[in-house]
Amino acid sequence: MTDLTADAQAPAQPGRNPAAPGGARTVASAVTPALVARLAAGVTAAGEPVPVHTVAPLTGERLATLPQSTPADVERAYELARRAQQGWAALPLRRRAAVLLRFHDLLLQRQDEVLDLIQAETGKARLHAFEEVLGAALAARHYGRAAGKYLRDRRRGGAVPVLTHTVEARRPKGVIGQISPWNYPLELSVGDALPAFVAGNAVVNKPDTQTALTALWARELLVEAGLPAALWQIVIGDGPVIGPAVVEHADYVSFTGSTRTGREVAQRAAARLVGASLELGGKNALLVLADADLDKAAEGAVRACFSSAGQLCISVERLFVHRSVADEFLARFAARTGALRLGGGLAYGADMGSLVSDRQLEVVTQHVEEAVKAGATVLAGGRARPDLGPLFFEPTILDGVTPGMAVCAEETFGPVVSVYRFDTEDEAVAAANSTSYGLNSSVWTKDARRGRAVAARLRTGTVNVNEAYAAAYGSVASPMGGMGDSGLGRRHGAEGILRYTEAQTIASQRLLPIGPSLGMDDERFAALFTTGLRAMKAFRLK
Ligand code: NAD
Repeated sequence: MTDLTADAQAPAQPGRNPAAPGGARTVASAVTPALVARLAAGVTAAGEPVPVHTVAPLTGERLATLPQSTPADVERAYELARRAQQGWAALPLRRRAAVLLRFHDLLLQRQDEVLDLIQAETGKARLHAFEEVLGAALAARHYGRAAGKYLRDRRRGGAVPVLTHTVEARRPKGVIGQISPWNYPLELSVGDALPAFVAGNAVVNKPDTQTALTALWARELLVEAGLPAALWQIVIGDGPVIGPAVVEHADYVSFTGSTRTGREVAQRAAARLVGASLELGGKNALLVLADADLDKAAEGAVRACFSSAGQLCISVERLFVHRSVADEFLARFAARTGALRLGGGLAYGADMGSLVSDRQLEVVTQHVEEAVKAGATVLAGGRARPDLGPLFFEPTILDGVTPGMAVCAEETFGPVVSVYRFDTEDEAVAAANSTSYGLNSSVWTKDARRGRAVAARLRTGTVNVNEAYAAAYGSVASPMGGMGDSGLGRRHGAEGILRYTEAQTIASQRLLPIGPSLGMDDERFAALFTTGLRAMKAFRLK
């Protein structure tokens, strides 16, 4: 049974954060009308925009009224961004990088402001909101420091040694169209935009309306750090209405969201022959091998499955445990899960917050109820908790899940994990690889070398050995993204910044042309080059 904090047990009252003890900050006191109005002024929307309202998931009360952009506003956003991009790209790279490093410091200094906003917009626990600050700061520092290394001109072997001087250069794409979801609104708006900016691009960003305040706040802070304001345009509106307009004018598309929408975005980008990176859904697996440290594995599994109430693309929804340790592991995992403190105060302390929307609650409830009706057993949790707030759902462990159940292969995107037992490593690897997704996985063993060997056999873009997801995600110098239906392209590392650039090869020829010259006929030219090619291979020239 889920153990609840004293404050989380207070009965829900309309218009009041039920998890906030008397006198504590509430959503309403943290996200004031003046703050909303200030941030809303950052939306690119002309004329008399049709307003849209958002609701605070923790309490169900109205959170913000924001102007909506039209497709014409999106076009104007691109014009403004395009104009600003030229001057920005002309600056020395170190000046652009300095903006990221200043942003890093400001973000750490002012984190409480954005932690409030993230909690108010998503309903997640403060600790999970902090993961976003961490992710964005890591990206800012990494690309602020390493962009020079990624983007510098590189000498390459020329067509003819000595005579051809060849350089590979990187040019900004221009204006990046960025579409982001609601679940990690800081990390997936500014975190992904930072490498685009430092590479000399502008960005037109469409965050999810529900979490637009967080993106608008990040924009304000980046402008304070020195980014020209016009360089980052934010448009707001219904995905199917303005999303296509964002793709229509982009020089490159950076999309994060569901696999279904990702396919649509990919088709539109392909029709225009512009590139796209697609960070999509997952049905991630965690493997507990027979020699795992069961306490550490149980603690890691809790983080893997229930961080941000499971509304995390890299969170775990399938847990495979070796039969010899299954009973012992599951007892520990269920006990830890049952002891999680659910709560929604704007302060640290709760282990899990609420879901974000009615739609999320509906899917989670449906997946659990359908599985239970078809014979699955609930080892922990299993029900909604309207007494805590309108969208709370207990962290839930299901046993006895079979292939016909939606929860088995479809992404739930909530605090629900199914457990399966295995006898051999081969069986575990095959089962983990049996979905069309391939985003993240986690392997627990006392033998790190064995863990890495199993990792190499898993078809996922990131694998964490003895950690849930943060080790790989936080390794921002190394790529992160999905295989199969989990996406195309990568964020982080070299790929995370080079995707926002075009490669340009500049080759200068000296002394002799690459063709018959100095009275040489075609046959002699061909013979000379044939000898030259053989010599180059013999001298091991690349
Ligand atoms: P979604 O696909 O419904 O929406 C994502 C964004 O796309 C939103 O801004 C939405 O308004 C916009 N959109 C909707 N229809 C569109 C259209 N026709 N054209 C262009 N844009 C459109 O996804 P969601 O429910 O907001 O997010 C949850 C999903 O995102 C989950 O599947 C999750 O796994 C995935 N996700 C993946 C990663 C990753 O890095 N791989 C990270 C976070 C979330």
